[in-house]
Amino acid sequence: MAEPQFLVRIWGARGSLPAPASENCAFGSDTCCVEMRCGGRVLIFDVGSGAQALSARLSDDGIDDFDLFFSHCHFDHIMGLPFLKPLYDHTVKARIYAGHFEDATTCREMAERFMTPPFFPVTPNQFEAQIDFRDFRPPESLSPGGGITIATARLNHPNGCVGYRVSFGGHSVCYVTDIEHVGSTPDPDLTTLVRGADIMIYDCMYTDEEFDHYRGYGHSTWEEGVRLCEAAGVGRLVIFHHRPGRGDEELRAIERDAKARFPGAILGYTGLELTP
Ligand SMILES: [Zn+2]
Ligand SMILES: [Zn+2]
Repeated sequence: MAEPQFLVRIWGARGSLPAPASENCAFGSDTCCVEMRCGGRVLIFDVGSGAQALSARLSDDGIDDFDLFFSHCHFDHIMGLPFLKPLYDHTVKARIYAGHFEDATTCREMAERFMTPPFFPVTPNQFEAQIDFRDFRPPESLSPGGGITIATARLNHPNGCVGYRVSFGGHSVCYVTDIEHVGSTPDPDLTTLVRGADIMIYDCMYTDEEFDHYRGYGHSTWEEGVRLCEAAGVGRLVIFHHRPGRGDEELRAIERDAKARFPGAILGYTGLELTP
């Protein structure tokens, strides 16, 4: 059977740090990495440790052209960059986007500052792919071609972050992590970004009960994800950016509670595939 036109694949749904353990292996321990296939185009959102398995898949599928979008560059979202093998292939074309900076840092500088001795032996100069580093500032819209449009919004997170809404073939999928919500009413700009989307992947690091202890950490709760979906008419909520030490049983309980409140809620995990 042919692949669907619009496909979302999760390669890593854990937040902050990969923390594999026997208690939390059911849903994967790799950090944030999401792939979207829109027709023949490949879009990647963040390259946390989940990028290793993604990298193998891109090679298997002979993908030689893709767009990579960073939400921001905290370690859990960028640590897989040096391990993305297609970037070392001179026949590959890639465009890499970042727009979260609160100063004049560019996307290229971000990669250079991250991949530099003595922290890492390989620098971006050793990438052989034809890479176009692109900078933008939310709420700028991006047009990667292929009939895809991408809306962006700034997210409330230390050092800045960007949320994306990808629209293709009459459907929309939002990638909204890492974000700390403020107050009891969802942010109007964010509500606008995700309004009517088929799927929203959302930072559900904490529960509302835990949230008070973690104010200022830059993360949200599954309950806020539900409130946002309800306020904005979003079809499905993908619970994402799980706490590193969150065990399988806890995650199952979160999914159960979330589904009881909002039937469109599903737990994000390594290997999950969705069609909007
Ligand atoms: Zn994160
Ligand atoms: Zn972060």
